[in-house]
Amino acid sequence: MREMEKIISKRLQIWGYLNLNQKIDHALATMEKYEKEMKKEAYISFSGGRDSTVLLDLARRYYRKDILAVFCNTGNEHPEIVRFVRNTDNVRIIYPEMRLSEIIEKYGFPVISKEVSQNIWRMRHGKKCVAIPDKYKYLFFEKYEVSNICCKILKKDPFKKFQKETGMIPIIGTKAFDSQMRRFAYYKRGGCNSFSKQNPVSAPLSIWKDKDIEEYIQRYNVQICDLYTKENYKRTGCMLCGFGVNNYDRDRFEKIKEKHPRVYEQLYEIKNNGVSYYEVIEKLLKLEDYGKRK
Ligand code: SF4
Repeated sequence: MREMEKIISKRLQIWGYLNLNQKIDHALATMEKYEKEMKKEAYISFSGGRDSTVLLDLARRYYRKDILAVFCNTGNEHPEIVRFVRNTDNVRIIYPEMRLSEIIEKYGFPVISKEVSQNIWRMRHGKKCVAIPDKYKYLFFEKYEVSNICCKILKKDPFKKFQKETGMIPIIGTKAFDSQMRRFAYYKRGGCNSFSKQNPVSAPLSIWKDKDIEEYIQRYNVQICDLYTKENYKRTGCMLCGFGVNNYDRDRFEKIKEKHPRVYEQLYEIKNNGVSYYEVIEKLLKLEDYGKRK
C-alpha cells in the first residue's frame, strides 16, 4: 500500500466510528462539495436496494428534494425491485443494449466474484492479472469463458450513455466497508468524491456501515423494498448473477427456483460454448463442498 493510501485507509477506519448524525452531515457536505466543484447537476444512481434507498431518502430529505433518481433495468432484476422502483417518485429508467443471455454467450459467465472472474478472463486472454486462489484455477482450462464484462454492459455502459446525453454526474450508494474492491475504489478516488473529468463520482455513504443504514431506516421510517422486510433478503442485486453463490449468497438460486421457476429455468438455457449456466454453477458448488470436506 502506498503512503497516501495508508493515510486514507487510516482516515476511513477513524471515520467509520462516527455516529449517525455525524455521518449524515458528512454525506451532505460530500454531495455539496461534489456538485460545486464539478459545476454540474448530480443524480442518484438508484438500484432499489437498501443502501441506495437510504441515499435517495437522505438526499431528498436534506439536500435537494427534487434530485433525480436513475435506475437501470438490466432485465435481470427481481420483479419486487422493479415494482418498488416504479412506485418511487421521480425515477428515470434506463436500459442496457444487450441481454444477459447474449452477454454470457459472447463473453462468459459472471461467477465467484468480480475480482476472480475478471482475473480469469484476463489470464485467458494474455493480459496482466493478479493471483487467483488455487481452488478456482480449474477455470483456466474449462471450455467455457468466465468474465465480469456483464457488469460493464448491463450496468456501467447505460449510465455512461445517460451521463453523456444529459451532462449529469452520478452519486452512488456504495460503502467502502462492504468489500476489498470497494475499499480500493475509495483509496483510488482519494476519499468519497472523485472530481475526475472523465469519471466523476460521489459516494457519500462510503464511511457508513450496515448498522448505520439500519439505524437510518428505523429513525426515519424509510420504506424499503419488501424483499428485505417480508422475505428477509440480506441483499438483492441481479437475479441470475453467479457472484457469491459459492459463498455468502449460497441460497440465491434456490430462492429463485422456489419463487420464480421460469427465471430459474433460464439457467439451463443460457450457455457459453455449449455449456449451460446450470452446469457451471453445479460444478463450482461441488468443488467448493469437496474442498471444505478435505
Ligand atoms: S451483478 Fe452480475 S449479473 Fe448483474 S450486471 Fe454485474 S455481473 Fe451481470
